Amino acid sequence: MVDWTGLGHAYGAAWDVPALLNSLTPDPADEVWGELWSRICHQGSVYSASFAALPALADAAARWQPRQRAQPLALAGCILASTDCRDKSGRNLVEVFVRENHAVVRRFQELCQESLAQRGLTKEDFIYLLQAACSFDGDGFWGRKLDQLAGGEFSGICPRCGVDLYLVIGKYGYFATAEDWVSRGDSPGTLRPRPGVKLAPIESAQGALAPTAQWMYDRCVAAHQEELAVCVSFLFGTSECTSCRESFSLQDAIAEA
Ligand SMILES: [Zn+2]
Repeated sequence: MVDWTGLGHAYGAAWDVPALLNSLTPDPADEVWGELWSRICHQGSVYSASFAALPALADAAARWQPRQRAQPLALAGCILASTDCRDKSGRNLVEVFVRENHAVVRRFQELCQESLAQRGLTKEDFIYLLQAACSFDGDGFWGRKLDQLAGGEFSGICPRCGVDLYLVIGKYGYFATAEDWVSRGDSPGTLRPRPGVKLAPIESAQGALAPTAQWMYDRCVAAHQEELAVCVSFLFGTSECTSCRESFSLQDAIAEA
């Protein structure tokens, strides 16, 4: 049995976590998810209770249909991709958990692969599952960054001159710019670049993709997420800084941010 009162989360002692874990539902709009996220994965920070909650998240995901698992898997993935995870004695809690709980991590990987293979997931759920799969495979970088794809824009920094970059991939187009580009589009809810803003096109990755890119691309194609497969080829592409004119790989610029 877990002694929850001896564990902590963002707001203090974790005595209230078991009740939340017992009332999980597959409905992502259920307020229990907000309550749980804010306690155990607070803006990317994790706590001792976060790791104690992982087996229960795996149990919930396993009870539900593959198409219903985005919340528990995304939360678990976020916890395991955290970089803000050292305890008072300086131990990296993610490394400790992974070392001592191979079976739980393996279970997350299997549940997530099964969910990713489903057709007809929303684009957002698919992105969150893909991000979680990266995290479960030990790729903390994409395990932290990939969800920005759901918003159609990544934050980057020019590796050459250090300017902040907006890397737009998806519903608003495929371009990079150092300027605030957003203006309202012609129809409600759409955006388009402001007139006069300097934009650089993103060139999609050419030729053989790097293994991570190829893996993401293949998952998208297999699940008939063709639009996201195109986004992945741009995500691993290159562009030009609109400030210093130097070309850069998007992955490098995202890593700087
Ligand atoms: Zn630059």
